[in-house]
Amino acid sequence: MQTLEQIKNKWNNAEFVDEGTFQYYWIPSPNKSAGAIKSKGVCLHLTGGNIDRNLEGQAAVNWFRNSNSGVSADYVVFFDGTIICTVDRDNGFWSWSNGVDFSNYKYTRSSPQIAQIIKDNWGTNPNTYLVSIEVAGNSGDRYSDAQLESIGKIIRRESAYHGFAINEYTIIGHYQISPDIRANCPGAENVRLSIESANKITPVTPPTPQVNPLQAEVDRLNSEVMYFKDRAVTLEQDKQRLQNTILSLKTQLSNVVIPADLSGEVARLNAEIARLNEENANYKSQLNTCLGEKKTLASKLQTVSSHLLPATAVSVILAYFISPLNLPVEVSSALQGLVVYAINMVTVYLTNNKTKLIEVVNDVS
Ligand SMILES: [Zn+2]
Repeated sequence: MQTLEQIKNKWNNAEFVDEGTFQYYWIPSPNKSAGAIKSKGVCLHLTGGNIDRNLEGQAAVNWFRNSNSGVSADYVVFFDGTIICTVDRDNGFWSWSNGVDFSNYKYTRSSPQIAQIIKDNWGTNPNTYLVSIEVAGNSGDRYSDAQLESIGKIIRRESAYHGFAINEYTIIGHYQISPDIRANCPGAENVRLSIESANKITPVTPPTPQVNPLQAEVDRLNSEVMYFKDRAVTLEQDKQRLQNTILSLKTQLSNVVIPADLSGEVARLNAEIARLNEENANYKSQLNTCLGEKKTLASKLQTVSSHLLPATAVSVILAYFISPLNLPVEVSSALQGLVVYAINMVTVYLTNNKTKLIEVVNDVS
């Protein structure tokens, strides 16, 4: 057992409480809620982690005093049997280590792994009706003899104070509440040994609750002061983080190049749009002119085509009139050749014109 001086060296607000048959150190935790209901039993734990074994449970007490951890226990039992109380259950506060969030709970009221006392109080947070005892040690450890003696005393005290029997129904392990995530907390054998230890101790007379209302208020205010001190540290860290973020954003912002005046650019783009609109209008009017020319040329083409056909017909008709004139063969054929030549010339001229016109018309379209 550690002495008050040893304990005070580690936690200067620790207080030694002597109830005559039961002694413990009071080191309050801010992690607690008001509204505890009458205790119906005890839930046993193993803190886990090598640190606790070496430092005999101090790490657990530090953890429960830290408002950021969000956990606490009614009692912590060090490796040498020293008992620490961190939550004043006798004044109606409950600690945060046996809890069940029933909305996300994977077990049902009939699951065989769940303790009967949990099933009988189904839907009620076990923190509110079970005293929690965190015992320093690694997962899988057997409780030390000194620890078993202290656990027996705590169970005896709570049983006398709250009026529950000591048996397998009332004294359970954390693994019977959360079999999935706390399968070895603290192991069935440790629960059995704890019940055995409590039953070996002579029953004690329940202490008369002597609550000095002023002292209770002082304790409450002290724990609030501690809570706000921790909170201030967290807020300071948050502030630092935000300041760093702001600084980094400012740096990023200073690297972004934004044109001083966008109105010049807007005017340039508007002028470009106007120029393109004007160009478009010009092309439209040129297109209209071309379409008009195409129409004119098409009608000329029709005229040339209508002249071409009669020119061919004329050569046939002249040949018909020349042959009956009984001219000497030489003259007749020379005359005929002349007519054919003249007709051919006209035909070639008209054909060339037609071809040219077709090309122009095609170009326009
Ligand atoms: Zn546990």
